[in-house]
Amino acid sequence: MKDISFETQTLHTPYEKPDAHKALAMPVYQSVACEFDTAEEMEEAFCGRSKDHFYSRITNPTVQYYEDRVRALTGAFSVTALNSGMSAISNTLLTVASAGSNIVTSPHLFGNTYSFLKNTLAALGVEARFCDLTDAGAVRSNIDANTCAIFLEVITNPQMEVADLRALSAIGQDAGVPLIADTTVVPFTVFHAREFGVDIEIVSSTKYISGGATSLGGLIIDYGTFNWPPNIKALKAWRSDTAGSEAFSTRLRREVHRNLGAYMTPQAAYMQTLGLETLQLRFTRQASTCLDLARRLRQIRGIVSVNYTGLEDNPFYDISKTQFGLLPGAMLTFDLASRRSCFSFLNNLKLIRRATNLFDNKSLILHPASTIYGTLSEELRLSMHIKQQTIRLSVGLETTDDLLSDIQQAMPAL
Ligand SMILES: *Cc1c(COP(=O)(O)O)cnc(C)c1O
Repeated sequence: MKDISFETQTLHTPYEKPDAHKALAMPVYQSVACEFDTAEEMEEAFCGRSKDHFYSRITNPTVQYYEDRVRALTGAFSVTALNSGMSAISNTLLTVASAGSNIVTSPHLFGNTYSFLKNTLAALGVEARFCDLTDAGAVRSNIDANTCAIFLEVITNPQMEVADLRALSAIGQDAGVPLIADTTVVPFTVFHAREFGVDIEIVSSTKYISGGATSLGGLIIDYGTFNWPPNIKALKAWRSDTAGSEAFSTRLRREVHRNLGAYMTPQAAYMQTLGLETLQLRFTRQASTCLDLARRLRQIRGIVSVNYTGLEDNPFYDISKTQFGLLPGAMLTFDLASRRSCFSFLNNLKLIRRATNLFDNKSLILHPASTIYGTLSEELRLSMHIKQQTIRLSVGLETTDDLLSDIQQAMPAL
């Protein structure tokens, strides 16, 4: 069958080996080790010459099935499932970076990603160069011979900034630098990262994919599109003349991910495989509600502004539509008059949950400045465009009317 739809394909990826009992869902292979009939077979597996599983920190049948499904859906060269979005980010960047190299990125990043770049990588001699990724000149002037990646989030949170990925990819190609994107906020069902020049896609599968916030997880999706040149020193020893595009995934799978020990657990892989099956259904519903809500929130007294890139008058509407289509995610932000009105509003809510996380089945809300960015100085927060007046809402599977009436009743008296 050709041109099979995402929804259908996601349900029907075959197992690598048939299950002994013909189980319809991939069983959870909870076992840490797999045994071998002979010492010879064991040697083949340990030396990477056969695909047999031997130890679940490195590969596991249930986790591999999840990876295979994501590979079938994205057409990627290689997919690696880790035990959180942060471990997907840290494994990726520790694979491409080495002491003395630098990563060109934006200050608009998920809180722990920012800290990983600013503190953890800095201590290892890797410099993060924070600049405005919507400004091609700024990106070009920050790239030099030691740059090992351009790294960004495709819709930043909570600023909702969208950079032009094709433009960044072209700059990277000129300089021999890969484009690495965290696409957590727009799933690969609607956003085809490779078409926009993304070489490596990172997803916190804790969010949309897990399906109702069942488990933590992260994915590294390598499209095999980047022919790693010698200027990326971390991968120099992993290149071969015939397969320069495989250097990243080879080092990741043979060295970095084994040494960091953050592989996904079989239980999480089982739940996230189920989550994939309903991903597009849930996403379409949640994102449609989000767009509807974004339009209607503007009419509520007390809401100063609404930020969602699917609104026609949003400054990033055009680029967002080109890259992500008409439903750019199920998260929006809105501003109230002050920090005090935000706290009072949050405390008045009856239905929407005060919790961190994105894309649970339940709608979740928080005040970014006092939570995710709460321990930063106000000066640093302002440089990251985190405002005290902003509320972030992750839209769940409730109806628009129910969400709207909760928001309405919680609005502080003016
Ligand atoms: C949540 C999130 C992460 C981190 O993912 P975890 O699974 O919590 O480790 C990274 N990037 C973005 C954009 C996120 O929303």
